[in-house]
Amino acid sequence: MTEDAFGKISNSGGAPLKAAPGLWMIPGFGNTGVVETEEGLVLVDVPVGALATGMIARLREISDAPVHTLFITHGHLDHAFFDPLVREARQRGFNPPRVVAQRDVEKRLNKYRMLHGYHEYINRVQFAVPEGVPAFPYPTRDPDILFDKTLSTRIGGLDFHAYHQLGETDDASWVWLPEKQTVFAGDLVVWSFPNVGNPFKVQRYTLEWAEGLEAILAKEPEVLVPGHGPLIQGRQAIREKLLKISDALRYLHREVVDRLNRGVWYEDILHQVALPPEMLDDDFLAPRYGCPTFVVHGILRQYTGWYDGNPSNLFPPKRSEVAAEIAALAGKDRIMDRAGALKDAGREAMALQFVDLALAADLTETEARDMHRLKAELLDVLGNRDTSLIARSIYFNGKKEELKRAGP
Ligand SMILES: [Zn+2]
Repeated sequence: MTEDAFGKISNSGGAPLKAAPGLWMIPGFGNTGVVETEEGLVLVDVPVGALATGMIARLREISDAPVHTLFITHGHLDHAFFDPLVREARQRGFNPPRVVAQRDVEKRLNKYRMLHGYHEYINRVQFAVPEGVPAFPYPTRDPDILFDKTLSTRIGGLDFHAYHQLGETDDASWVWLPEKQTVFAGDLVVWSFPNVGNPFKVQRYTLEWAEGLEAILAKEPEVLVPGHGPLIQGRQAIREKLLKISDALRYLHREVVDRLNRGVWYEDILHQVALPPEMLDDDFLAPRYGCPTFVVHGILRQYTGWYDGNPSNLFPPKRSEVAAEIAALAGKDRIMDRAGALKDAGREAMALQFVDLALAADLTETEARDMHRLKAELLDVLGNRDTSLIARSIYFNGKKEELKRAGP
């Protein structure tokens, strides 16, 4: 999880930013919101792993007071793994903070425990975590107070309202602090195109995400602490930025739903629906993490099953067996030549398909090594061209695997 890779969405290690009297954002992967109250500090979210220790050191530049309450905006590892905060409270002789989250955070943490090895693997690829560095911490603590739809509480003279909202996750919430006109948005706002339809992860929610942003705007906040990226201040600036995201999500959602209702199938929708470039003209929603094509996948997954409309694919043979048939028929030399020609013509995605056909054929060891090397080159081109961190990580991980197969 390097800062380079994340750019704007990971500004870890920064000094606390004062957003209003008694109100701070500590930048991190992800950000932590801090509110000073008469009863102690209220925090929103804790960054992941060692970054939490750095966050606590920054917190102590602001105040020595105990942490009274921690709100967790969702159960992802960069927001919800709060062990270091409990340890710090014990060391200082304080009660540990009470931890508040939406009810499904607990379910998510249980899922992470059940599928720990799987998440260790997919997160290593998604975030390009080097070998030897743990890619996914094992959750050891659950929140203390769980709510379903909303929770309102008064702490040290200030009202806090938490609202459940489907968006990046099914367990997400955002926190509204009316006296400070401040919203803690969690990952509803991340300074990237929303990460709906992440290739590795469970269902995320496009229309609901847009609705969540609009619900935030209805509060007319003056300060918005995002889950990742810079603080946003000023009612008008917040309005402009959040509407750009919700408009883009609503556009993609409408285009997909219209086609589903007209009987268009998955693959055609995927290739037909794109966001008009003018809707992507703001750095705020650049596809640096998620991207519009992933969102289209996400919408299709939310509303449809896995059947693609073609009965040939209901109980199909393995793709590699089909490829072997084609390769035997066409001849491996023609397929390998065509793969190279497509690469030279700048048609990398198509060239990859021919490389895979060739690799299913009866190749000599030298031919196989050549094809693995060609695949590595193609993945490198595509990885360098793509702006989405997730897409880049998948391409570059694939390149690494292909180079291993190609040998020295
Ligand atoms: Zn996050």
